[in-house]
Amino acid sequence: MDSEQFRKFGYEFVDWVADYFAEVGDYPVRSRVKPGEIKERLPAKAPQAGEPLETIFRDFKEIILPGMTHWQHPGWFAYFPANNSPESVLAELLTAGMGAQCMIWQTSPAATELEEVVMEWLRDMLGLPAGMAGVLQDTASTATLCAILTAREAASGFEANKKGVKQPLVVYASQEAHSSVDKAVKIAGYGKEYLRHIPVDENYALIPKKLEEAIVADKKAGLVPACVVSSLGTTSSAAFDPLEEIGQICRRHNIWLHVDAAFAGTAAILEEKRWMLQGAEYIDSFVFNPHKWMFTNFDCSAYFVRNPDLLVKTFEIHPEYLKTAADTQVKNYRDWGVQLGRRFRALKLWFVIRSYGVEGLQSMVREHLRLAQLFKSWVDEEARFEVMAPVNLSLVCFRFNDGRPEPELHNKNKELLEKINATGSVYLTHTTLKGKYVMRMAIGSRLTEEKHVRQAWELIQKMAKEI
Ligand SMILES: *Cc1c(COP(=O)(O)O)cnc(C)c1O
Repeated sequence: MDSEQFRKFGYEFVDWVADYFAEVGDYPVRSRVKPGEIKERLPAKAPQAGEPLETIFRDFKEIILPGMTHWQHPGWFAYFPANNSPESVLAELLTAGMGAQCMIWQTSPAATELEEVVMEWLRDMLGLPAGMAGVLQDTASTATLCAILTAREAASGFEANKKGVKQPLVVYASQEAHSSVDKAVKIAGYGKEYLRHIPVDENYALIPKKLEEAIVADKKAGLVPACVVSSLGTTSSAAFDPLEEIGQICRRHNIWLHVDAAFAGTAAILEEKRWMLQGAEYIDSFVFNPHKWMFTNFDCSAYFVRNPDLLVKTFEIHPEYLKTAADTQVKNYRDWGVQLGRRFRALKLWFVIRSYGVEGLQSMVREHLRLAQLFKSWVDEEARFEVMAPVNLSLVCFRFNDGRPEPELHNKNKELLEKINATGSVYLTHTTLKGKYVMRMAIGSRLTEEKHVRQAWELIQKMAKEI
């Protein structure tokens, strides 16, 4: 393809995306294809001869698109959002166009230095301690793995890096913590048996007393407590662990404190939500995902550490072929995480923060919080429905309850959720809280307005009459 053809298709593709933004609400939110259906429509072997882009683009629209679930749909209330924005998409185009691999400063100085700047912006926007330094990762799972690996080295005096884990190290997280903690503990060599799931209170927040009891018991047994993962905004119900009390326990016992705020972290840009960071001075590492609620398309996860030296010491490598003259004066982010090669993720974040401004981002997040309270008030008013967890942010956990026995309620709610999602106009997912089947209404899509939330509620009520 020459430049002129690229230009022609480029305009056409941008037109397609612009139309998609305008019309995404017309698609069924969740793809309706059956398992294997897309694969069946694709050739088993790669084409020997090149094909015209017109044909490939046509197949994209005819074969691929029906197999897509539309995360940018205004009726997206599933999981947590994974927002994009036009600004972010345009910046990604520039990133792809330059095709730079930004593993070290020298392989694109602007990528490293812009990353430093946007991470400092983000840190200050959220009100994290001024000394913290940040790096962009692909996902919160990776950032949590980095934290658990660094905690391993801090607890073993960097012996685990040398000799493997010889002495049992223990990680603590609440029963409601994200599965990425379990995954990280498995792959970081701690062993699954050394992850303690600490009980939660009636609001699904970790009980600090239980945490300290577990730490003391492990120490008595000759084990080494290495890391506590505190959740700010759990995935099931957006519960907040009491950070300050947990921080004090970590300080007393000299344990690494990692904070998982993957979804909720964005809300810390609001003065009225800053309470969540009470105790931030105890944090060793912190992750939140701009790709969830900060309108920056996947993937973009912000990881902050209090002491970057420990992070770098855990990950650093110095092969001859990567040495440069600038090494003593610059950051080489290759040593701030697992991967060597790095995408230029900071560019899209810079575009987003600059084009919306902090105030623009604040008002979008605030609107989602308002819509969640509105939805909650409707559920509260309706006798056959109940709210199942505190609505701290923009997630409402609720269920249908007409007073029938629990096992039947479980099935009824499951059936109701399937019926709601089958309409194609909204998509909600579920969780269980205290063993009860609960629907999650996660508001936070960029295109979601009050009318969409209202339509969703009307639909939920209508479907509830039919089950
Ligand atoms: C979404 C989520 C994660 C996982 O995020 P990834 O970026 O997909 O790895 C981790 N923790 C919490 C609390 C989450 O909500």
